[in-house]
Amino acid sequence: MKEKNLRSDMVISAISTAEGRGGIAVIRMSGEGSLDIARKMFSRKGEFVPNMMYAGKIDAGSFCDFGMCVYFRAPKSFTGEDSVEFHCHGGQEIARGILRRTLELGARLAERGEFTKRAFLNGKLSLSAAEGMADMINASSEAEIRAGFLLYGEKLTCEGKRLQAMITTALASVEADVDFPEEDLNADSRTQIGHTMSEVASSLSALCAQYSAGRKIKNGVNVAICGKPNAGKSTLFNALLGYDRAIVSDIPGTTRDTVEGTLEIGGVLFRLTDTAGIHESDEMVEREGIRRAERAIAAADLILYLKDGDAPAAFPQNVPVITVGAKCDLGRKAECDLLVSAVTGEGVDALKELMFERGYGRETGEAFLMEERHYRAAERALKAAENALLAVRGGLPPELYAEDMKEAYTALGEFSGETSSERIIDEIFSKFCVGK
Ligand code: GDP
Repeated sequence: MKEKNLRSDMVISAISTAEGRGGIAVIRMSGEGSLDIARKMFSRKGEFVPNMMYAGKIDAGSFCDFGMCVYFRAPKSFTGEDSVEFHCHGGQEIARGILRRTLELGARLAERGEFTKRAFLNGKLSLSAAEGMADMINASSEAEIRAGFLLYGEKLTCEGKRLQAMITTALASVEADVDFPEEDLNADSRTQIGHTMSEVASSLSALCAQYSAGRKIKNGVNVAICGKPNAGKSTLFNALLGYDRAIVSDIPGTTRDTVEGTLEIGGVLFRLTDTAGIHESDEMVEREGIRRAERAIAAADLILYLKDGDAPAAFPQNVPVITVGAKCDLGRKAECDLLVSAVTGEGVDALKELMFERGYGRETGEAFLMEERHYRAAERALKAAENALLAVRGGLPPELYAEDMKEAYTALGEFSGETSSERIIDEIFSKFCVGK
C-alpha cells in the first residue's frame, strides 16, 4: 500500500491559509523541484539554508509582493519531501497570483489533503495522527482540540503498536506449535499465550470504554430541555447560552419548533435543544413541534426536565435526567435535583456543573478514542482477542486461535493505517482542506 513512488512525481502547490482577507497568506509547495520554482520567484540570489526564513520580493509574474520564503529540505519537512513556503500579504488576489505563478512554473494544484497524504505515505505520521490533526482543525470545542492533539501525538498508534508487539510475540510460540505439532505445545506456553491475550483484551476494552466520552467530545453532548408549556424552558435555555436565542413569552405554546444552541462546559461542547412542551394538542403546527421535541428527546445524551407540579414524564430509560425546579425566585419548591431561577441567575452555574457531571462525566480522563473508525477497529480487535482467549482456554487447536490473533493484529493496524485499504485512506484525505 505504501508505494514510495506514489510520492513526489510532481511538485504540488496550494494556498494553505483560509480563503479571504487576512494579515498574511501562506502558499506551500512540496516535491522535488520546489526550490527550483521558488528560486525563479524569490529575489534571494544566494544559497537557501533549510528552515531559514528569508525576507524578499516574491515575483508573481504580473505583480510583486514583499514577503518571506522558507525552504525545508527532505526528509526534514512536514511531507518528508523538499518543500517551500511563501508568506505573502494576505489579500486573496495576492495569494492566488503567487499560486498561479507556481503552476505556470511547473507545479500542479494540490488535491485535498495531499500534503498530509504525502506525509503519511512517506512515514512522517500515521493515519490516526493525520485524522487527529484534522480533528484539531475542525474542532468546535477545547476538548476536541485536546483529544485531536493526543491522536496527532501518536497516542493511539503507539497503543496499537504496543498491543501488536504483544500479539507478535505470542504468535511466534503458537506458530512453532503449528509447524511442529508432534512437540505438543507445552502447557506453560499455552498459559503464557492466554495471559498475553487476556492482557490485550483488557487493554482493548479499556480503550473501547473511552468511546462513550470520545463520541461526546467529537459530536457534543446532546441535551433536550423538556417540560410543560410555560415551565420556563426557553428562559432557561437563553440563560444557559448567555444570550437571547429563543423567544420567551407567557403565552403557552410560543416555542412551536425546536430551537438549538451550543455552549461549552469544561471545554466540552453541549448542544442544547429547547423543545416545544410535550402535551396534548389538536393544532397541526404545534403537533409537528411536539414530534420534533420527541425526536430531540430520543437523540439526547441528557435531559433537563423542568418539573412543574407533578407533571408525569416518560423519558428513555438509559438517558440521565436532571430535574430542575425552575422559577425558584417565585418561591416554588418542587422536589428536584436543583433549584434554578433563569431570571436572577441563581443555580445556573450549579446546573452547568451538574450537566457536565451527568452528561459527560467528571471522572473521564483524557479520552482520545473519538473517531468512529478507530472505535470500530478497536471493537474488531477486542472481539478477535476475546475469541482467541476462549480458544486457548478451551484447549482448541492452535491453528484456530492463531487466526483470531492475526485478525486482532490486522484490526490494530487500522490505527496506524498500515492495514487500511487505499479506499479508506483516500476517503480520509478527501475530507481535508486543499493546502493541508
Ligand atoms: P416555556 O414555554 O417553557 O419555554 O417558558 P418560557 O421560558 O417562555 O417562560 C414562560 C414565562 O415564565 C415567561 O413569562 C417567563 O418570563 C417566565 N419565567 C421563566 N423563567 C422564569 C424564572 O426563573 N423566574 C420568573 N419569575 N419567571 C420566569
